Amino acid sequence: MKLGPVTIRNRIVFTGHDSLLQNSDGTISEAYIAYQVARAKGGAGVQMLAAAGIDAYSATAVGQLRIDHDDVIPGLKRIAEAVRAHGGRLFAQLLQPGREVYGSEDGTLPLTFSASATPSERFRVHPREMSAAMIAKVIADYAAAADRALRAGMDGVEIVANQGNLPAQFLAAAINKRDDAFGGQLANRMRFLLEASRAVREVVGNRIAFGVRISASDMDIGVTEEESMAVCRALDSENLVDYLSIVLGTPATRGGSYHIVAPMNERPGYVGSYAQRIKQAVKAPVIATGRFNTPHAAEAALMAGEADAFGMTRALICDPDLGRKIAEGRPDDVRACIGCVQACIGHYQKHAPVSCIQFPETGRETTLARYERAAAPRKILVAGGGPAGMKAAAIAASRGHSVLLCEAAPQLGGQALLAQRLPTRAEFGGIVTNLQHEVYAAGVEVRLKTLVNRALVEKERPDAIIIATGGVTAMPDPDNFSDIPIVSVDEVLRGGAKIGKRVVVADRQSDWVGIGVAEKLAAEGHHVRLVCAGVQAGEFIPVYLRDSGAARLFEAGVEVTTYARLFGAEQGVVYFEHVVAHKPIVFENVDTLVVCFGERANRTLEDDLEGFDIETHIIGDSLAPRTAEEAVLDGLKVGRVV
Ligand code: SF4
Repeated sequence: MKLGPVTIRNRIVFTGHDSLLQNSDGTISEAYIAYQVARAKGGAGVQMLAAAGIDAYSATAVGQLRIDHDDVIPGLKRIAEAVRAHGGRLFAQLLQPGREVYGSEDGTLPLTFSASATPSERFRVHPREMSAAMIAKVIADYAAAADRALRAGMDGVEIVANQGNLPAQFLAAAINKRDDAFGGQLANRMRFLLEASRAVREVVGNRIAFGVRISASDMDIGVTEEESMAVCRALDSENLVDYLSIVLGTPATRGGSYHIVAPMNERPGYVGSYAQRIKQAVKAPVIATGRFNTPHAAEAALMAGEADAFGMTRALICDPDLGRKIAEGRPDDVRACIGCVQACIGHYQKHAPVSCIQFPETGRETTLARYERAAAPRKILVAGGGPAGMKAAAIAASRGHSVLLCEAAPQLGGQALLAQRLPTRAEFGGIVTNLQHEVYAAGVEVRLKTLVNRALVEKERPDAIIIATGGVTAMPDPDNFSDIPIVSVDEVLRGGAKIGKRVVVADRQSDWVGIGVAEKLAAEGHHVRLVCAGVQAGEFIPVYLRDSGAARLFEAGVEVTTYARLFGAEQGVVYFEHVVAHKPIVFENVDTLVVCFGERANRTLEDDLEGFDIETHIIGDSLAPRTAEEAVLDGLKVGRVV
């Protein structure tokens, strides 16, 4: 299809997103080139670079990609040429975030500017109102940045007017309180974006594509669907844009930010209906982005007329070869993103480079993603068919080893099989489907209902063994508990456990599990109190999951207590200790205590093999209990060297 003067080979769009793979000064790095090239080789239609700051105030956080001075041009040139060498097309995003800034080089609160001095609810940022002269300067900066993109050989540029950035701050009546030509009625509030778009169009002409990215709705306080529709019509009627790129949400509020990278509790492709309403009102092609995680989801939306192209960003983070697999007629080989938001946006929120829990090669294109065929094929025994064991087996077999994977259960998957039983987490089971597919595709021999012990190792005589037997459920010391039924999370999720009406969930982990178990029990009619050791329920999980979990706990009527360490229980009374005040927190009339204490490493096989002369690797939870992400990463690390 065509986006203005640019022909793209398919409708798959790798939209702009922060990867933190660029250099810390915001210039292009080798790691970032390798990341984008992997998607170009894999058949993406068009790729957008991360939003690049157009002036000195344009960095939402430290390390923002930059396009505000000519020194960045050589780096941009290199990455554009590298992507084009593989049939891809590369666009630059032009960013002015206004008040949506939450980091600074020296840790002080950033100085920000916006349409008006309206603070941002989520980041507590108090901006200064922009003067007329500053508005003119920023519009000129958009044009100058577009000129740099043109000189760097980019195929297109895009103004980042979506998700609460400066143009959206001018557009939203709740933020823009000006009484000059840029405030007041809607026609005035859209003036900033229209003038910036005219300035960019004047610079780039029809030599490269020009588009605008906009939220169809902020889904909270901010830009409404009506305002967004009006601005799309205005841009289109003046023929200012070659395409419109439609998303949802704003970082300014918790309810809006959650839609920026929606978790698995939103259905795949849920943004499509919003994009469709805009598509029906404009001539320009429309790109829709929002959980288009499989070729099937995008194809269905295309057939329904929801959009012309699809932002499949996490889909490509999870499977860089998505486009090539579809082109080769292998859509079922695609490793579908499961919307866990753990290693993509989750890493960004921890200031770490992008990756994927299912495909840790992402973000590590210049390091762990590179491995060779084994010089001398060997026999490898993998004990345990959870995520760690499956990844290790698949990688080792793909390198030419003869791999036997034994799993004690009747099914591959390990802990992921239980994790998918948490409310709204069913899609997590996709990690099992995907890794299992990779195991069989790599030619691994799989034996189910087969427990690995010393006798089996002696019989099979492998050259090396990889222990991936996972963890066992951790429980509190029984000495402090009497006359109260104690139930583990596993028992709750497997079903069949006898649970009374009034339940206390003691959540030492403050992760997905406590939230999910409390939600499940409340939905089943129990009165639930969730008592966390952390500062909030879900403290240690990605922000958007935590926020959506908080909303569901609220709706379910779960009472949440934080800063509480489980101490003991007797005769229907459960005692906690405030972790800072060291004072008791007491819950009376409790019928059942449910314990979320995580796991401890399963060392059974390791102990059984003590003294046995064999190359041994221990990975995943059997090394130390962590999450599926670290399990799969351990599997990759061992599989590529064994
Ligand atoms: S980490 Fe999760 S949400 Fe992110 S790309 Fe991978 S599977 Fe998708």
